[in-house]
Amino acid sequence: MADWTIDQAEELYGVNRWGAGYFSIGENGNIKIAPNHRLPDITIDMREVVDEIIAEGIELPAVIRFHDILRSQVEIINETFSKCIEEAEYKGKYCGVFPIKVNQMREVVEEIMDAGEPYNYGLEAGSKPELMAVMAYNDNPEALTVLNGYKDKDYLTLALLGRQLKRKMIIVVEKFSELEMLIPLAKQLGVEPMIGLRSKMMVRSSGKWAGSSGDRAKFGLSIAEILNAIERLREEDMLHCAKLLHFHIGSQLSDIRKIKEAVSEGARLYAKLVQEGVELEYLDIGGGLGIDYDGTSSTTDSSRNYSTEEYVADVVWGIKQVCDLENVPHPNIVSESGRAMTAHHSCVVSNIVGEVNPSGTDFDLSATEDEHILVKNMRDLFINGAQYHPQERYNDAAGYKQSAYEAFKLGILSLKEMAKLDTMYWRILADIHTGLDEESAFIQELDELEDMLASQYLCNFSIFQSAADTWAIGQVLPIVPISRLDEKPEVRCSIADITCDSDGKLSKYIEGTEIRENIPMHKLKKDEAYHVGLFLTGAYQDVMGDMHNLFGRLTEVHVYCHDDEPGDFYIEEVVPGTSAEKVLTTMQYNTEYMAKTVKKHIDRQVRKGHLQPREGVRWTNFYEKCLAGSTYLRVD
Ligand SMILES: *Cc1c(COP(=O)(O)O)cnc(C)c1O
Repeated sequence: MADWTIDQAEELYGVNRWGAGYFSIGENGNIKIAPNHRLPDITIDMREVVDEIIAEGIELPAVIRFHDILRSQVEIINETFSKCIEEAEYKGKYCGVFPIKVNQMREVVEEIMDAGEPYNYGLEAGSKPELMAVMAYNDNPEALTVLNGYKDKDYLTLALLGRQLKRKMIIVVEKFSELEMLIPLAKQLGVEPMIGLRSKMMVRSSGKWAGSSGDRAKFGLSIAEILNAIERLREEDMLHCAKLLHFHIGSQLSDIRKIKEAVSEGARLYAKLVQEGVELEYLDIGGGLGIDYDGTSSTTDSSRNYSTEEYVADVVWGIKQVCDLENVPHPNIVSESGRAMTAHHSCVVSNIVGEVNPSGTDFDLSATEDEHILVKNMRDLFINGAQYHPQERYNDAAGYKQSAYEAFKLGILSLKEMAKLDTMYWRILADIHTGLDEESAFIQELDELEDMLASQYLCNFSIFQSAADTWAIGQVLPIVPISRLDEKPEVRCSIADITCDSDGKLSKYIEGTEIRENIPMHKLKKDEAYHVGLFLTGAYQDVMGDMHNLFGRLTEVHVYCHDDEPGDFYIEEVVPGTSAEKVLTTMQYNTEYMAKTVKKHIDRQVRKGHLQPREGVRWTNFYEKCLAGSTYLRVD
């Protein structure tokens, strides 16, 4: 196809720009994945993965996890820190932790712990159930377990149990009252806690999570409270338990300058506290390392204007500079990056199950003798388009449509006439749009035609389950067809989901370096499935979804790369999605009772002779099969 190249597809969808080296477009027009950063030549063809999934009888939509990407991200952050620490002759170590709230899936946490073992990479928890999970999964005595979030007595007691197990569990005090609870508890149990102090930072971050810092932040201690805490610990002879100073100014930090500012504030506070006699060993800079979702490398909310190397360098050199000036030891550096570890490793693949397009309906438009003058006028515009200036044609068509609507309400136009007129109206708009030349395209009304004519592609998924942040906070996630990228995408469309919620659609699309309300995709073919991938869903989206319309969790497919396997990959595990039965049960339904009741009604129809007994059995079995089946649409 000479009129379309892979480069143009790349320009349009920006796969390399947001793909971070993992995703690109292959020569064959399929999305290509290089999941292992050490072995960039081992690549997986996304289309082949999807074909294998379908061949195994697994129904879409599915979450596909590339575990090698997860491992690569863990290796990259640890190695980038080590390298920079060496170059800067920094005296402390890097002791990263993964905050499991970003993706609590057991398989994800296990993979991260396994990949992080050589670096003593640890975990962070922000609630009691998360603490219980990290206690079981971080058994490396060298790795940190950082405990944030509001705490009650049980939370603190569990943390002290962790100390009994010789783990480096650090209780980060978010509120002064937690310290008042902790001190007597630790004494009573005879356990020496490791204590962290979370500082409410003065720097104001920008973006969606700006509220995580500043005077009104919900978390952390003010400087006065930190000084009071130190006094309290000194009184109790527990000052040596204060090991860590923590701050976290927000997630998805898009501007590197805010990060530098926060590091400088945090390091200064650390130094002053050390000078006060607090023997802090760790400085924890929290999370916030961003992801370039829209591929613009900018300070928009869905991007970041820095690389991981730059981030790490600014942290290491920033802390070193302050400590050297203040003449205090370099602390070990803790970071709690979650989004950056997980966003790339998973995506949702689904199929387009239909198209909604006002100009796509077929209707018999032939003239009848006594048809209304409005229909005749519209037909004239429709057939003799060349005689009109596009703007005049558009205005007339809109005028006739409005008059027709008034006439219909008064009972003057018949249903058939209305249907013809409406069909012609949309065809005229499409015709005007196709015929626009450079000059007339600048007329504003005509420019809007593109959006008016956009199709809606119905995608077999629920954004409330799989892409909650696109709905909740206007997060941009890339959506790209996984094949046919060597063909020109000729249909401008938006993506709607299958929930009954009119908000159930993606409203922002990456087109080149712009964010638009729709995006070009390929024409649907009658007997060929069209698969699209929603990418970068590994952070938060995977685990935050809800069950709007009772669409449950998606089937998960875990893919590993391996160069001895055909296609350089193998599917290691398939975790089935939530069945209709299970979703209904969580809403307190008793599905056995439901099945029994439906069967009773079917039996009654059989007894009355309205249904044949065999038919009755078939209906009963079908209902039961659907209960056990997927909540999503089945596409045969
Ligand atoms: C959410 C959170 C993180 C993770 O932030 P990311 O932006 O995902 O890296 C780290 N630390 C704390 C305290 C958090 O609340």
